[in-house]
Amino acid sequence: MVESGASNWNIRFKHLYVFVMFCLLTSSSVGQQPFVEYSERDSAYLSRLHTRVRGPLAVEQLRPRGVPRWQLIARRKLTELLGLDVIARDNRGYQSQVRLQDAIADDGFSRTLGKIETEAGIEIPFWLLIPNGEDHPPRPLAVCAQGHGGNSWNNYAGIYQNAAEREKALARNATPGLEAVRRGYITIVPAVRGLATVASIADPKGRHGNQLCRAQLVHCLLAGRTAIGERVWDCQKILDWALTGLPNVDTKRVLFTGNSGGGVLTVYMAALDERITVAVPSCSFTSYTDLSGFVFHCDCCLVPRVQSELGDFSDIGALVVPRYLLAVHGKQDGLHHYPAVEAAMTRVARVYGLLNQEDKFAHRWGQEGHKFYPDIMWPFIENAFAELHK
Ligand SMILES: [Zn+2]
Repeated sequence: MVESGASNWNIRFKHLYVFVMFCLLTSSSVGQQPFVEYSERDSAYLSRLHTRVRGPLAVEQLRPRGVPRWQLIARRKLTELLGLDVIARDNRGYQSQVRLQDAIADDGFSRTLGKIETEAGIEIPFWLLIPNGEDHPPRPLAVCAQGHGGNSWNNYAGIYQNAAEREKALARNATPGLEAVRRGYITIVPAVRGLATVASIADPKGRHGNQLCRAQLVHCLLAGRTAIGERVWDCQKILDWALTGLPNVDTKRVLFTGNSGGGVLTVYMAALDERITVAVPSCSFTSYTDLSGFVFHCDCCLVPRVQSELGDFSDIGALVVPRYLLAVHGKQDGLHHYPAVEAAMTRVARVYGLLNQEDKFAHRWGQEGHKFYPDIMWPFIENAFAELHK
């Protein structure tokens, strides 16, 4: 009788525990403030458009054995949707050219301004930062991609137009190129098309809202390209050159990182290009929309038909498996929403788990806003590079 009573109590306790956990979980999700509020009519429409859509290459039904085939098909589809096939067709037979100016000595490294002509007449400037020490064993390569901000690629490499710009960049830790070269990495900081003023086309009469990135997007969409596709194209040409033409680069240790729009580019680059062995998107890697249908990223990140023909941005980021991937977000980032980010990262973690590669994916929250978190990202990168160096 005593045993039976204890058993009943255990069952009741278990029911109570399950009930309390259910209440806690549901209250935490229900209690979250919505990121935005649409009217009832708009909500119904946007929910139909976005929330209920699960693309044919979304990861829900993925099983371990299916991962290689899924990656092959999804990468092929992503290449098409980004317009990379169109860009390749437009440039058939064209060989990109690189020109370097004279190196300038800096504190412990050299700084060289380069230009790569990725398409006929399209010159993308970049900074090449090389640590001192010619006899050093092969070094990792770091590519740091800027986000919005016409001059931020210069800031990333420690170049500022004035004291105010310097102060702003330092406050946001927007100097990853400088940090990388000081850590001993051969570092490239490119101007990103449509984001850097120097690598953008004009917006006469302000037809595209006086936003260079939107001007780029509109022209691209009309021509069967995407703005992201052009950015990926340029960065792949830079990698082609850096991994074959630069001396002393360890091709197994290749970092790609960026914040905001540069983080979005990081996800697409790493998803498609397996030469990247460590990817760190900062304040950018979340779903395309939240449950209300709100679109998180800038217009220039638009990839037509991606939800209906492929899947969510989290599905695309999951293509990085089994390489190293760290997603960093800021708790006070006004551009992103905590529950949407958490849900997206859960999807990515599941795919890494399918291949027993949980240790190679991490998601971390910084305590501040829309910025780099060096204290979070560099330990992950250093650890990954140490593993890749074994
Ligand atoms: Zn934009």
